[in-house]
Amino acid sequence: MRKIDFLHSPQFWQQGFGPTHPLRQERLQRTYELLDELGAFDPENVQVITPPPPGEEELALFHTKEYINAVRSLSMGETHIPSARYGFGPGDNPIFPGMFESSGLKVGSTLWGAKLLANRECEVAFSYSGGLHHAGPDFASGFCIFNDAAVAIHWLINQGLRIAYVDIDVHHGDGVQNAFYSTDEVLTISLHQSGRTLFPGTGFIDEIGVDEGEGYSVNVPLPPYTDDDIYLWAFHQIVPPLVERFEPDILVTQLGVDTHYLDPLARLALTTRGHKLLFEELSCLASRWLALGGGGYDIDVVPRSWTLAFGIMSGQSFPEELPPDYQAKYGGKWLEDHRAPQIDENVKWLTRRSVEEVVSHVRELHGLA
Ligand SMILES: [Zn+2]
Repeated sequence: MRKIDFLHSPQFWQQGFGPTHPLRQERLQRTYELLDELGAFDPENVQVITPPPPGEEELALFHTKEYINAVRSLSMGETHIPSARYGFGPGDNPIFPGMFESSGLKVGSTLWGAKLLANRECEVAFSYSGGLHHAGPDFASGFCIFNDAAVAIHWLINQGLRIAYVDIDVHHGDGVQNAFYSTDEVLTISLHQSGRTLFPGTGFIDEIGVDEGEGYSVNVPLPPYTDDDIYLWAFHQIVPPLVERFEPDILVTQLGVDTHYLDPLARLALTTRGHKLLFEELSCLASRWLALGGGGYDIDVVPRSWTLAFGIMSGQSFPEELPPDYQAKYGGKWLEDHRAPQIDENVKWLTRRSVEEVVSHVRELHGLA
């Protein structure tokens, strides 16, 4: 049985963008409560670990000192900082008191998971508050203030480890891709709804890396209405062969679940069945796995999908019906979806054709054809 560490702090629920923001703290609270009520933390191979905040020099593995200082000052309510220059403002990245500590602790969480894996203290670490893949070295972007994945991967490659990063969030993992765009020590693969129709507007097939990094950035842009079967087919064609060829020491995954058909911010059409199959695939790709959270904005979907992910990580299966207390508090009845999106057969056919084209182009570019 694999040893699995779940990185958690109740602080993740207390501070954040607030209850009306898509990335609200309740997503994490509900996930934790569902896992807890299912007894998911009880088995002997599972440990819940409270991470420490990162050191400033650790944040500086990816972020500039200037940006770190700006986030700290804004977090304390200082008003003389030109916040818009750093990506803050009403809308996606509003400033909130304590945001330095709050977003810092999410980096601490992912970094602690990385350290446990590097020291071989566990085989899987799940930093469910992490996966904030859009943040840049000196700016906040797309609900992401600090880029926990980029910080942790920097730390891991400094230990001499080879890292494959697979990002299944519906949005392109631009911040992480850019962080390692010119190195061959990190393979980044992102599958996402095409930047033609979705934020951040990047992640096209021809973004393959530069210099030493050429060939080590892989992008699979998908059209709206891509469903479980089409997505999984594309995944199979590209991810396992590239990861196996790269032979990573540690697999890092961003497990955004905003690919779900009910997600209010995007237009892919996966269900929890597709998510579960994907988590199973990822689970087999490496002996050490740093799993991160990420996007997902349907509040009823996120806890269920990440619970299924945790079940696969830790080798547990859960009852079909949600626990009674959880049902009473949040509604819903089933752990897995009992409905699927209704997609017109013509749309399905066009979607499949378009994905086949993308896949054959990507395979050719990356030497798989
Ligand atoms: Zn996303």
